[in-house]
Amino acid sequence: MSILKIAIQKEGRLSEKSLGLLNECDITVDQGKRKLIGTSVNYPIEVLFLRDDDIPQYVADGVADIGIVGENEVLEKDKNTTLVKRLGFARCRLSLAVPQDSDYNGLNWFNGKRIATSYPHILQKFLDEKGIKSKIEEISGSVEIAPSIGLAESIFDIVSSGGTLVSNRLKEVEVVTQSEAVIIATPGLSKEKQALLDGLLFRIKTVQQSKGNKYILLNAPNEKLDEIVKLLPGMKSPTVLPLHLKGWSSVHTVVHEKEFWGMVDKLKELGAEGILVIPIEKMIL
Ligand code: ATP
Ligand code: MG
Repeated sequence: MSILKIAIQKEGRLSEKSLGLLNECDITVDQGKRKLIGTSVNYPIEVLFLRDDDIPQYVADGVADIGIVGENEVLEKDKNTTLVKRLGFARCRLSLAVPQDSDYNGLNWFNGKRIATSYPHILQKFLDEKGIKSKIEEISGSVEIAPSIGLAESIFDIVSSGGTLVSNRLKEVEVVTQSEAVIIATPGLSKEKQALLDGLLFRIKTVQQSKGNKYILLNAPNEKLDEIVKLLPGMKSPTVLPLHLKGWSSVHTVVHEKEFWGMVDKLKELGAEGILVIPIEKMIL
């Protein structure tokens, strides 16, 4: 029987969300004692826990069939992998930043300057495209301190809120690329593995569709039913069931949380009572 091998980050910003995603898909992973390989009892999947830097290579080589990793690492390592799905978490950008007090006046500023980064490949490609000649200082971490210790005049690094830049007296001047967590796969998976991947993707879609959606139940006086139903969208249209109490009905539907707050006052005005809002675990359209 075929088994799908998935690489996820062992420890770091992606690991909890990656395991969380599998859990939401009802795939429980037993991390084992050494915590390098995990198996699941309820899905034919094996989980390899790796450093995120290594995931593109493992997937390109087929040691892992798929991996969950930041797009930034995929672009930097530039291995032969297929992008299967964007996951929407670990959103960040890769940007150039310079000291706050510098006289930055456009990309030409970087000509002849040193740029510290952990992403030399992405940076070199960008500089080549723009015809800028800089010296790249490759370092593996704490890039943001490079200007203050005199290693470089500027940096190229991950930015999300920008707080780290500010506390190091730097300013973001060019966004080079955006990134989020993605699923990558070995090109040319076997039919069996592709089927397992499709099964996993279907579960992910089902979970994502349900996010933010709520199941709403309410009691409505029959004479206001039409107006109330008009207010409520639904997957097709709301379900209306008669209550034992004459002249009243129970209305059930699915709405997005955001829409719900906009309509609740109007529903009450129309005489709706006993409004229940219930979380949805899975939604198959
Ligand atoms: P490893 O030990 O596995 O090599 P790491 O230190 O390289 O880990 P982390 O800091 O855990 O990496 O970040 C993992 C990924 O999370 C990054 O490659 C990036 O895609 C994303 N990421 C990093 N920093 C942020 C941030 N501030 N906001 C959102 N996403 C981020
Ligand atoms: Mg890393």
